[in-house]
Amino acid sequence: MDINKIRADFPILGRTVYNRPLVYLDNGATTQKPRCVVEAMVNEYYSVNANVHRGVHFLSQQATELHEAARETVRRFINARSTSEIIFTRGTTESINLMAYSFGEAFLHEGDEVIVSAMEHHSNIVPWQLLAQRKGIVLRVIPITDEGELIMEEYQKLFSPRTRLVSVAHVSNVLGTVNPVADIIHTAHAHDVPVLVDGAQSIPHMKVDVQALDADFYVFSAHKVYGPTGVGVLYGKEKWLDQMPPYQGGGEMIQHVSFERTTFNELPFKFEAGTPDYIGTTALATALDYVSAIGMEQIAAHEHELLSYATQRMEQIPGMRIFGRAKQKSGVISFLVGDIHHFDMGTLLDRLGIAVRTGHHCAQPLMIRLGIEGTVRASFGLYNTKEEVDTLVAGIERVSKMF
Ligand code: PLP
Repeated sequence: MDINKIRADFPILGRTVYNRPLVYLDNGATTQKPRCVVEAMVNEYYSVNANVHRGVHFLSQQATELHEAARETVRRFINARSTSEIIFTRGTTESINLMAYSFGEAFLHEGDEVIVSAMEHHSNIVPWQLLAQRKGIVLRVIPITDEGELIMEEYQKLFSPRTRLVSVAHVSNVLGTVNPVADIIHTAHAHDVPVLVDGAQSIPHMKVDVQALDADFYVFSAHKVYGPTGVGVLYGKEKWLDQMPPYQGGGEMIQHVSFERTTFNELPFKFEAGTPDYIGTTALATALDYVSAIGMEQIAAHEHELLSYATQRMEQIPGMRIFGRAKQKSGVISFLVGDIHHFDMGTLLDRLGIAVRTGHHCAQPLMIRLGIEGTVRASFGLYNTKEEVDTLVAGIERVSKMF
């Protein structure tokens, strides 16, 4: 990987913050955008823009072609069997809400159980809790070790005749733990239970093959993989999606409407009511092509090197506590130093031009499990460098000395 060439693709990395070069280590929250992604959006608005699917005219057909080509790019990227299995949504959160509503409507009844884990993001907890309030379903939680790994023996024990779905993160946004989703899926399938994988933090960092994993559902957000905000994906096996009712009603998702009866469109359109963000889907495809051209294996190796280097350097800092010591870990380091409040650390690092995230990271149940209020989190992307890790370490040392 030619890191300087890659960095040059991201104009924002050249800016300063408080007169210091920006060190952007908040990639878990959102990633910066390469020029090609922004240009894809500008070009489509300037030269193609028209509403998709409904027009006979030239521009509408061209916009439709771009939108459907983006679906094919997503299919190829995660190796889905068919584009019918790629539903465009607004992001991971909407994809999981769609699942809770639609899968919930079709398959979940009072007393049925959904298994999640102790390290889930709120977006993989709250939609199920809302469903629990509506329908009386029960959430079962896979516990974790102090190192931040799922306790797989306990997972196996959570299955009952009422288990209907397992819904787990591929990678924890706080601990960086890469969960053994292939094993999780294998176990669930032995109980005839489908699995939804929250891929928000895995898709940008590793090669994902939904068929090899045998995932029943897989969700992610474009903005975390160098694409635009407001677009995401729900992958689902056709055999499940076919049995699920629409999530929202409106244009695009129907075949025929009369006041007596409406028939619904085929997959994937059944789940895509209203005008889609067709500019965003083109930009997502551009982002996926961009990372594919660099190579997901290369990106994973680069980020892993940064993780090892940063961990080893940060461990030398007196009072350093790193949360998340899983053997399989992605480029995320959550930490606290002594009794310095995470908010103070984050604010002072910011003054040095270093962007990190502080707080509970939308994972309050995990914070309760760890017995803390929040952490400081540095999360790496494909454009980060060892020099930036050095700047982070120097920053943490400087802030520590102030307390
Ligand atoms: N799941 C995980 C593991 C996440 O890290 C995030 C975002 O941080 C989400 C879900 C929600 O993603 P979005 O806000 O893009 O819908």
